[in-house]
Amino acid sequence: MIIAVTGGKGGTGKTTVALSLALTWRKPVTYIDADVETPNAAILLGTEMERIGAAYKSIPVIDEEKCIKCGLCAHACPVAALVFIPGKVPLFIEENCVGCMLCKDVCPVGAIREEKKEIGIIREGEHEHITLYDGLLDPTEEEAAPLVEELLRRALNDAKGDVIIDTAAGIHCNVARAIMPADKVIIVTEPTPYGVHDLEKIVKLVETLEKPYEIYANKWGINGACQKRIEEIAREKGVKLTKIQFSEDFARKYAKGAFEPVIQ
Ligand code: SF4
Ligand code: SF4
Repeated sequence: MIIAVTGGKGGTGKTTVALSLALTWRKPVTYIDADVETPNAAILLGTEMERIGAAYKSIPVIDEEKCIKCGLCAHACPVAALVFIPGKVPLFIEENCVGCMLCKDVCPVGAIREEKKEIGIIREGEHEHITLYDGLLDPTEEEAAPLVEELLRRALNDAKGDVIIDTAAGIHCNVARAIMPADKVIIVTEPTPYGVHDLEKIVKLVETLEKPYEIYANKWGINGACQKRIEEIAREKGVKLTKIQFSEDFARKYAKGAFEPVIQ
């Protein structure tokens, strides 16, 4: 069984719910922290992580000796990552590049070669019955997709027991990528106006991906009107709603770095 834990809005307690599930699973479980820009499961569990791999992206390198300054590569580039000034070798803007290598394919003299650049690492650690995997994106990189894909490929391939995937927050491609392998999705929200707004959006994404899902509403008790709306959404969709009461004691301990499951 593969369960993806996701949430449209950051800060709703998505990782808190995912880790609580893993800690109370009572048998070997694989936990994949797919939020590669800000992985925090290992920090919350206090787990020592070890590098087991890396992810790479393709970048073009122009041989200035071979280049005949025709500009074809810059014209072909779909994202303006090559700037052509007549009479000069095109200028490469790495931040824009998506690694498609179309520029290499169109170069008439073979002046462009493909190089692999590391964009982040994949790590593994053990905590009690949990095998934890995460990815760390290089802070200078903007495109996390190759790292999320490699992390999922590696972790799902080596998975022991059931799998919990803790996705990034938001509604974007890398969240969809992390939901795709799941048999079931848990959507975590909170009773705030932003929480309700983003819940409606993530429900649409999960339904588009045709995944069965249920809703966990964290911090229950802080806003009656928003709670009513969350109950309505769950009723309209015919899905199970689990309410997790807001606890000042939990928030205080969490702030001090002491993690306790919110689900028993
Ligand atoms: S690899 Fe693709 S995106 Fe990057 S410079 Fe070449 S054509 Fe543009
Ligand atoms: S297509 Fe090749 S030869 Fe033409 S400008 Fe680009 S690198 Fe130079």
